[in-house]
Amino acid sequence: MLIGVLGLQGDYREHQKLLNELGVESIKVRRASELEKVDALIIPGGESTAMSNLAKSFGLFPALRDFAKAKPVLGTCAGMIMLADDVEGSIPGQEFIGGLPIKVSRNAYGGQTHSFESEVDFGTLKEKVAFIRAPRILDSSKVEVLATLNGEAVAVRSGHLFGASFHPEITGSKFLHNLFLEHCKIAKD
Ligand code: GLN
Repeated sequence: MLIGVLGLQGDYREHQKLLNELGVESIKVRRASELEKVDALIIPGGESTAMSNLAKSFGLFPALRDFAKAKPVLGTCAGMIMLADDVEGSIPGQEFIGGLPIKVSRNAYGGQTHSFESEVDFGTLKEKVAFIRAPRILDSSKVEVLATLNGEAVAVRSGHLFGASFHPEITGSKFLHNLFLEHCKIAKD
């Protein structure tokens, strides 16, 4: 199994490091031809406005949208914003991949100075993760909630699309990646 990590912007290297620690092969994806090679995609955290501009100038949106319709995608933080169907606080002209039926609000957990680490509740266990200018999930009524923080959804899944408000890769939390990879294996078989 080969996992692509969208490498336009943000902390794609940390995701690749985590995948490497889990013994999973990955490549950085910047072109449609690279997307064709992978079984699943991770869209990292970073800055969704910059990511959106770069995806536009690389002409990647059509391929990303087709991919997300058919194959597993995990979006963390800015990556989840890119996957969300409804984004509050987007900038004019900002484009998204979409497909994940949630409403998110950009930067709603506060700006850079309000970044924090916290334990999120996956039901069976708690994991320490990082929230950095993190988006809040305002509507999770159409998706499965995978993790909560103070009762609010912070990680969700709808079919083969996964999203999280936080950065698991910064604290080295592997639970979400493992859930995603289990799904990827089933999807590939
Ligand atoms: N607030 C950022 C955005 O809108 C996301 C922050 C992050 O990915 N750490 O893209």
